[in-house]
Amino acid sequence: MERETWFADVLLPLPLPGTFTYRVPFDLNGTLQKGCRVVVQFGRQKFYTALIYRLHQQVPQMSVIKYILAVVDERPIVNERQLALWEWIASYYLCKPGEVMNAALPSALKLASESRIVINPETPVQPELLNEKERILVESLAYRKVLTVSEASEIVEQKKVIPLLKTLMEKGIIILEEEILQRFKPKVQVCLRFTEKYRENEFALRELMEELDKKAPKQCDIVMYYCHLIRPNITQAHYITRAQVLTGSKTTAAQCAALVKKGVFELYETVTSRLGQYDSAATVDSIVLNEPQKKTWEEISIGMNEKQVTLLHGVTSSGKTELYIKLIDQVLQQGKQVLFLLPEIALTAQIINRLRKYFGDRVGVYHSRYNENERVEIWNRVLDWDATQNEGQPKYSIILGARSALFLPFKELGLIIVDEEHDTSYKQMDPAPRYNARDAAIILAGIHNAKVLLGSATPAVESYYNARTHKYALAELSARYGELPMPDIQCVNIRTEARNKRMRSHFSQTLLDHITNALAKKEQVILFQNRRGFSLHVECSVCHWTPGCKNCDVSLIFHKHQNVLRCHYCGYTMRPPDSCPECKNTTLTMHGFGTEKVEEELALFFPDAHIARMDLDTTRSKNSYQQIISDFEEKKIDILVGTQMVTKGLDFENVGLAGILNADNLLNFPDFRSFERSFQLMEQVSGRAGRKNNQGKVIIQTANPEHVVIQQVVSHDYPALYRNQIAERSRFNYPPYYRLIRLTLKHRDSKILDVAAKELASRLRENSIGLVLGPEYPMVARIKSLYLKNIIIKLERGAKGKIAKEKLWPLVEANLKLDAFKQVSISVDVDPM
Ligand code: ADP
Ligand code: ZN
Ligand code: ZN
Repeated sequence: MERETWFADVLLPLPLPGTFTYRVPFDLNGTLQKGCRVVVQFGRQKFYTALIYRLHQQVPQMSVIKYILAVVDERPIVNERQLALWEWIASYYLCKPGEVMNAALPSALKLASESRIVINPETPVQPELLNEKERILVESLAYRKVLTVSEASEIVEQKKVIPLLKTLMEKGIIILEEEILQRFKPKVQVCLRFTEKYRENEFALRELMEELDKKAPKQCDIVMYYCHLIRPNITQAHYITRAQVLTGSKTTAAQCAALVKKGVFELYETVTSRLGQYDSAATVDSIVLNEPQKKTWEEISIGMNEKQVTLLHGVTSSGKTELYIKLIDQVLQQGKQVLFLLPEIALTAQIINRLRKYFGDRVGVYHSRYNENERVEIWNRVLDWDATQNEGQPKYSIILGARSALFLPFKELGLIIVDEEHDTSYKQMDPAPRYNARDAAIILAGIHNAKVLLGSATPAVESYYNARTHKYALAELSARYGELPMPDIQCVNIRTEARNKRMRSHFSQTLLDHITNALAKKEQVILFQNRRGFSLHVECSVCHWTPGCKNCDVSLIFHKHQNVLRCHYCGYTMRPPDSCPECKNTTLTMHGFGTEKVEEELALFFPDAHIARMDLDTTRSKNSYQQIISDFEEKKIDILVGTQMVTKGLDFENVGLAGILNADNLLNFPDFRSFERSFQLMEQVSGRAGRKNNQGKVIIQTANPEHVVIQQVVSHDYPALYRNQIAERSRFNYPPYYRLIRLTLKHRDSKILDVAAKELASRLRENSIGLVLGPEYPMVARIKSLYLKNIIIKLERGAKGKIAKEKLWPLVEANLKLDAFKQVSISVDVDPM
């Protein structure tokens, strides 16, 4: 073995096709495994952490072959099953394996030359615990504040630097700089432990206690309480905080300090508390299903036996989550892992509490708002999982997360739950891989031979179709829990109201009356408006000039709070002008309205109410979302105004009224899914109204109350919506009958773009790659100074479509090489949303 020549094909976290071959140095022979990270040089100067994909002895056909510089991991951090998922994503979504790797690994696991590192302000450095190389690096970091990995490699030997940084990161001494920028309150906890002398030395301990009992009874209490806490099985905690001991023993910090001085305890700081610790308080057995739920449970059990995927179509508040919990319990008992996917990070907060009640520490949360260290920590805890639940650090058997949780190193999944499966947030729009986590979850489950439960009150037309055609099993739950009636939906015709002088700005008198009523009954109100910002745009009342973005083809949106006009596509801002630059007229008026405007006007109508807003602008930081939700739960907010965010499965007890301010701009959106979307949104908004024992009220403001979709919402008639939609989809060759692929071409110059797009479209037609539509400008035809053109391809399902899809990308790439395409960039989106 030692003298054999081995090669490794590695994946680089770069948008490049295929793998790259490196030579394994003799001294690493036998130490490498598929799924381990190694350091390699790529290009002239740069080096990266690459992932071993294949080890072999075929001599590659290359003149120069570089050596692997160093090994980062002794054991794989990515397993075969993950790699199988990556392969599927790359091939199905027509993207590069490196792009998938990039999305899959937290950035702390893929250091590259450009990564910037800093000292972690949360961990005090103890130089005596560092080896020489580490000390040198930490010292220069302390001096220079920031180092790139390349710079660090000038200080220590290049091939050693990444493994070194990895150890320092694991010790919490250094972190990536990007994190510092997004870091919130650091959570350092002071912990307490016996000094060497008293650790596992009963005799010394007894002596100490006797002495303290006489001279310092309070100090004795502290020691006793501490002993109580470290008794096995009392708590799973592997560290004990000072605060915990002081509260428990009713003592003071000074009394504790005395013990530290006496050399009984030593204090240390920990940041492991980031992930928190939880005990379960209830058992799953305590969930008693009602009759409809029992029936549905039967359907699910049968479905799970017969099919890989079961669709649970259950109206809002019917108890889907309770069923999930029972199902999770079953799978855990088989010694397998569970992945619970949610479309929106914000939703995790509510569900996590419900899951922890039953499963305590076995539930972990993973999503992109966690900082890098937390993500790596969770990654490692999933990696360490095994079916035997041993003592000490709890192992995550259940992971709750948004779409990126799909990429964790699961060993043995038994079940994947995809809640709110219809939600478009499951689709990653940009950058590649543009995958749909719901669909990828089904593939992942297949790899693990696990089952999938898709849950929704308003399933995606595609999913319902799959259930109706028996590709999936179907379970239905059509009654709300606790005999709660479905909310009562009333449409208000804003045209009639206007005629009768009953519109107050954007509010009908009817809606205002209902808000007044709800507030009088101490009920809370949720109002939905699908645009954020203060006002759609500013317009000159004489010549109709509107300020637009200088980089994008859109009007700027007025944000009153900061008094700026902002582009929602590129972030460009400008001060609102005093007069029209075209005609010098000084009366500029506001048109349209967004959440911020709604919030402000409401304050005029309801001066005593507490009003809050939830949209992208108010929820940028990690905890703000959670803050708004808990304020609302604690009834510190009377009226919550929001965009899409308020519609998602949040479960509030006290909402009496939900209002949709303008249903028409949902319905009029030019997309084949807009009716489906509108139905889902309105139905979800109404689902917020009326929980605990009360029928909720929903008001929909529209100029078109007879609209078929609005009528379907009023009668909660999902099957009608489905029948209409599926007929349309079949007639016009849309999913689920056809598969869509969208190619987006971009270039600074619209003329070059036009030529290129036309050329590509005709090539596709010549090669009969499905039905080709376009090229066409999308709704927003220019973003960040680049013009966009879309070509939509409709592919038949089945073998014919598959062959066409395989031909597609080589054809696109061949075109990219032509002169006409110089600097035209093309992105591809399979199953666009
Ligand atoms: P969904 O997920 O379908 O919206 P939930 O699971 O949130 O519905 O149920 C709605 C409410 O009814 C929750 O407060 C839940 O605790 C309660 N509930 C549902 N089923 C049961 C049950 N079998 N026993 C006790 N409470 C239940
Ligand atoms: Zn003007
Ligand atoms: Zn812009």
